[in-house]
Amino acid sequence: MLINASIPRRCDVLVIGGGPAGASVAALLAKQGVEVVLLEKANHPRPQVGESLIPHVWKYADLSGVSPLIEQEGFVAKAGGITVWNGKIHRIAFSEFGFSRPALHVERDVFDDLLLKHAASLGVSVFQQVTVREAELNSDTPEVTYLDRRGGDTAAGGIHCRFVIDASGSSALLAGQFKSKQLVDSRMRFLSLWGHFKGSRYVAADGRSYPASEVGKTKPVTFVTSFEDGWIWHIAMRQYASVGLVINTDRARAMDKAERESFFLDTLKTAPYVDRLLENTEYLPDSFSQRPDYSYYSTRLCGENFYCIGDAASFVDPIYSHGVLNAFYNASITALAIGESLKDPSYRSRHAQLCENRIRQFYGFSRSLALGEFGGDGVDAELVRRFMRQVPALELELMLAASAMSERSGNFHQLAQNAGLHLPATRARTHFMQELML
Ligand SMILES: Cc1cc2nc3c(=O)[nH]c(=O)nc-3n(C[C@H](O)[C@H](O)[C@H](O)COP(=O)(O)OP(=O)(O)OC[C@H]3O[C@@H](n4cnc5c(N)ncnc54)[C@H](O)[C@@H]3O)c2cc1C
Repeated sequence: MLINASIPRRCDVLVIGGGPAGASVAALLAKQGVEVVLLEKANHPRPQVGESLIPHVWKYADLSGVSPLIEQEGFVAKAGGITVWNGKIHRIAFSEFGFSRPALHVERDVFDDLLLKHAASLGVSVFQQVTVREAELNSDTPEVTYLDRRGGDTAAGGIHCRFVIDASGSSALLAGQFKSKQLVDSRMRFLSLWGHFKGSRYVAADGRSYPASEVGKTKPVTFVTSFEDGWIWHIAMRQYASVGLVINTDRARAMDKAERESFFLDTLKTAPYVDRLLENTEYLPDSFSQRPDYSYYSTRLCGENFYCIGDAASFVDPIYSHGVLNAFYNASITALAIGESLKDPSYRSRHAQLCENRIRQFYGFSRSLALGEFGGDGVDAELVRRFMRQVPALELELMLAASAMSERSGNFHQLAQNAGLHLPATRARTHFMQELML
């Protein structure tokens, strides 16, 4: 990481944001020999939510070469998922789908820092505590202006590049500039409140609970229980468990932050199963955080000199842990599109259009999966069906099985059926459980 160096005045590709999307696209481009500068507002390791990773992420981690570092870090491997949805208990185990590498529960500050350091090790010029203000895109060499806060002072600056990649997460900097950010149907407009608990028991695949100290020996599952029209997650990690509440935004609209925190803690005390997991735990108050109105998408994603990826492009309710996967996928196709466009600029528009379609396809797929009957609204069903036909059978099966665990799956299953996909094993791999022994 470049702590004291001065930020160059020019580069090939300027990446805004060093989360999973930004760090991955930067690493992939650097591997192609492209000169990349990445500007990150925070100073990693910085807190981030989204700790449950599904096994699909490994193939993207392999592409950027970061897999060995993830393996060495020793994150918690998870066995699968258990949901209690409107009283019905379902379980899936990743081992039954034949994945050779584990799904993970990762502390995101550690995970994201590792990705960013990997990008830097491949030659990406990473500058932290530098906030991008604006990207002027009306020329062949766009200018990105920023505020450099390193060393305590604030200095304004600008950098010219051939491509700008907006990976600024929910800040969605370019979507803000374009005024292209759309919120989804208000019934699916959620707010999330979350925090960390030390010493929490956790749920394993056998439906029993285990003490926090066992987490390296007996694999946890990601535990989800429905709550009103939303849900609650419990994700056990090495030092603490992440517990979050997803509710309709209207439910907490009038509350200030302190009231929301009280509401969060009170709700957990009475939530079935979660209440027992959290008995005798230590709540870490500094970890309390929230994300309002978070299901959105931008109607403008890629152009001749810009690409919006990861959460800067779209975000859906994270019930199926698609966020980091989406960020990695977007990064991989964007690196391909920009790499080819740099070789032959006459194809810039074509590559941008193809990339935008792919990003939309994946978003439509995730949204149909996560938002049930509301997920189809505004999604191009034909694009999603085409995407489904290309997804490896193993991965699609896992998604179909997972979707059967909540009552939001009808739309997704219908799309799969319309795409001519029949995966009979799917239901057999979603196990119904009578009770949990917590
Ligand atoms: C409640 C909740 C639960 C979730 N659970 C999961 C889960 O279990 N599994 C999963 O896979 N995903 C989950 N997600 C989604 C996941 O967190 C995101 O999809 C993922 O972090 C997206 O990565 P990103 O790189 O696009 O954005 P981010 O991780 O947000 O990174 C963006 C980076 O850009 C920087 N930045 C912002 N503005 C600027 C600027 N102006 N200049 C410079 N830098 C800037 C930020 O500091 C940040 O580091 C969850 C999300 C939420 C809200």
